[in-house]
Amino acid sequence: MRIISNLFAIGLTLISALFTACGSKPIQGVIITGQNNHNWPVSHQAIKMTLENSGLFKMDVAISPAAGEDMSGFDVDFSKYQFVFLDYNGDPWPEKMNEAFLDFVRNGGGVVVYHAADNSFSSWDEYNKIIALGGWGGRNEKSGPYVYWKDGALVKDTSEGFGGSHGARHEFVLNQRVASHPILEGLPEHWKHASDELYDRLRGPGNIKDCLYTAYSPVEKGGSGREEPQIFTVEYGKGKIFHITMGHCGETLEDNPAMQCAGFQTMLLRGSEWCATGKVKQKVPADFPTETQVSLRPDYKPVINK
Ligand SMILES: [Zn+2]
Repeated sequence: MRIISNLFAIGLTLISALFTACGSKPIQGVIITGQNNHNWPVSHQAIKMTLENSGLFKMDVAISPAAGEDMSGFDVDFSKYQFVFLDYNGDPWPEKMNEAFLDFVRNGGGVVVYHAADNSFSSWDEYNKIIALGGWGGRNEKSGPYVYWKDGALVKDTSEGFGGSHGARHEFVLNQRVASHPILEGLPEHWKHASDELYDRLRGPGNIKDCLYTAYSPVEKGGSGREEPQIFTVEYGKGKIFHITMGHCGETLEDNPAMQCAGFQTMLLRGSEWCATGKVKQKVPADFPTETQVSLRPDYKPVINK
């Protein structure tokens, strides 16, 4: 009996070693949150559930002091993580944390810039290079050009004006703009996102590396009338930066269509894997939206690789 149980234990060890060798050990990341003009107590949960329920990620959460409180004790040990997920729009971090973050990114660390994280830190030059485009916070022509898709290419428009706006929330179609990228492998060229804010008129250094998807911002919804970058990677040092402007958080986990969207969740999962490892091993999920049909996952439980 003892031999059998020993054999069983050895078997388990071997299986565990095999999983590790196959890269099945969860990717380690940290969500930075705690201040936002959005509903961060819900958004960071939706992000954590989406990533961890896939079985591919283990996410810590770093919650800052509340707005206006003493930030001097806030710190994140970036060396513990393969990537950082930014769900933060608020007071400046301590200088020591700023420097540690920049070192992490310059040396190849992964970053996901999510929704209002591109509203944050409008006067921090290096941060603006990490996000490539941002909005609000007093951004204007001094922040850099408007960047949008026109006649088959991204254009930089230096005309004067505020940076960052959006019209009424609505469902909209994402349009793929690069021929290939690991994040896009197998995904449709066009897919319909659930009701969300469509960020437009963003401005910044504009150092977009690969513009993965744009969406048309209709004037009749209060938008710009332009084809606006929504999902892109950023050129910055050795960093792997994935910026997704979508995902306005609702009142509750249940009332949260933009973050329940199977397309949005797939982009979070693929963008996070890519910026953490440089690769994407996920298959296209069966419930991915089509060009005409929105697809929701109210339970934040992605089914991938099956
Ligand atoms: Zn929003």
